Amino acid sequence: MILENGETRFLSFQTFTIKIELLEIFKTYQTRVNMRLLLVEDEPDLGAAIKQILNYEAYVVDWFLDGSQAWLYLESGWTQYTLAIIDWMLPGLSGLDLCKLLRQNSSLPVLMLTAKDRLEEKIIGLDSGADDYLVKPFDMAELLARLRALRRRTPELQPRNLQVGCLTLNYSTHEVIRQYSHGEKQIISLTVKEFQLLEYFMRHPHQIITRDQIINQLWEIGAEPVSNVVAAQIRLLRRKLEGDSSESLIETIYGIGYRLRIEN
Ligand code: CA
Repeated sequence: MILENGETRFLSFQTFTIKIELLEIFKTYQTRVNMRLLLVEDEPDLGAAIKQILNYEAYVVDWFLDGSQAWLYLESGWTQYTLAIIDWMLPGLSGLDLCKLLRQNSSLPVLMLTAKDRLEEKIIGLDSGADDYLVKPFDMAELLARLRALRRRTPELQPRNLQVGCLTLNYSTHEVIRQYSHGEKQIISLTVKEFQLLEYFMRHPHQIITRDQIINQLWEIGAEPVSNVVAAQIRLLRRKLEGDSSESLIETIYGIGYRLRIEN
């Protein structure tokens, strides 16, 4: 059979039912995806620098060096993004054309990068569907400020503290506050990957999340981890969240995946 994501699999009925449920969960996640960004920039040093700073801000970044490759991937619909940063001058398909194609069926906020700084060229860039425009060379602080501004314009993209049951996730500090039933509060600092992982779980409390879903959402294209990395990350996150407590929050569903068990 062919799943909506294009994968062809032969499945038993029981597995098929689980797969359909997971696909539904995945679709829910796609509509709420918060931390995934598309970067199309053909200058290796600049692309690497942008990706590094965005990773530090806890974005999962898919970086393409070629406009056509980026479009092929976008067209597949496999990944939904929160924001896109697209360079104007690109091999394959120009940033301008990529932006026009995107606009045919998507409202993805686009920040366009370019060395072109003449007024008429800015107008062409904005008319192609870009939401904002940043002229090279620019300061990374300005890039981050522009991205924050783009998110503010789209209220559903605005990260706020996320509260689910006894956990409150802080997007600014990458900390989670755990409130215990006896009233005590614990503030826990998270690494970027732990933060992304917990955010994903907190957006899907009580739902089973597979290792493949975690990899598809939290690892960049081409950066899929070796087999035990997800389990190791879950262990680290569990240790931080659970400390000496016997209340286990992340449950392992053997052979399928993981589930955040939390009182709403
Ligand atoms: Ca370029």
